[in-house]
Amino acid sequence: MLLFGTAGIPNSAKKDTFSGIMRLRELGLQAMELEFVHGIKISHISAQKINTFSNKNNITLSSHAPYYINLNSLDKEKVEASINRIIKTAEISQLCGARNIVVHPGYYHNMDKLETYNNIKKALKRVLQEIQGYNVTIRIETMGKQSQFGSLEEVLNLSQDLGPQIMPCIDFAHLHARTVGKLNTYQEFCQIIDNIQHKLGKKSIKDLHIHISGIKYSEKGELYHLNLKESDFNYIDFIKSLKDLEVEGIVICESPNLEDDAIMLKELYYS
Ligand SMILES: [Zn+2]
Repeated sequence: MLLFGTAGIPNSAKKDTFSGIMRLRELGLQAMELEFVHGIKISHISAQKINTFSNKNNITLSSHAPYYINLNSLDKEKVEASINRIIKTAEISQLCGARNIVVHPGYYHNMDKLETYNNIKKALKRVLQEIQGYNVTIRIETMGKQSQFGSLEEVLNLSQDLGPQIMPCIDFAHLHARTVGKLNTYQEFCQIIDNIQHKLGKKSIKDLHIHISGIKYSEKGELYHLNLKESDFNYIDFIKSLKDLEVEGIVICESPNLEDDAIMLKELYYS
């Protein structure tokens, strides 16, 4: 089963999580990513209510950790704060019933790529020690800017080294932007999926967490998100590759029009 949903509350709902869940159900969508990107602002009690409410309405929740995370900061205190933010996100996500937690891992600065990799891996090991026994999976996202750690290879290597509680979030729009317009054909989408399967096993593509949107980019990678029809992203072949290779999991739409593109993709998938 492949579920389609939105990054946060749909535009056509009132701006609270409960209305968002109800609206998604009305629209025939199946998932929502809780956006803790500007901090975690919900109490434990409301987290539990969200959990019950989403179950009742058959909406699968995931979450997005704060943007203010850099596991490769030159400032050791910032690394500590970043580790703590991920742990806090894991605690609240577990209460919400959001198993998948998406994380932007950090930046290279002027550091060598291997050194960056090792620093991020070390920090994630610390996170893992704290979330043992939690029913959560940390999803390291493939990132859209070349200055950001998070190529497909890096993200898959982290899962290989630290899995199964560290798994990828494959943002196909980011990969397209990061490679300045490549990774946009049926064959390339299939190669990405094969690559994941080859490195992390068949199970990984039966429980894949995916981000998608239109995207604007420069020679340095991502600039901003667009609606799919206003972008050059080849969403028709993207959907076809997911279908043909029998990928299962969650597709979260991050286009500015959120639910409109999510519905379009879902309809394409089932057509
Ligand atoms: Zn993200």
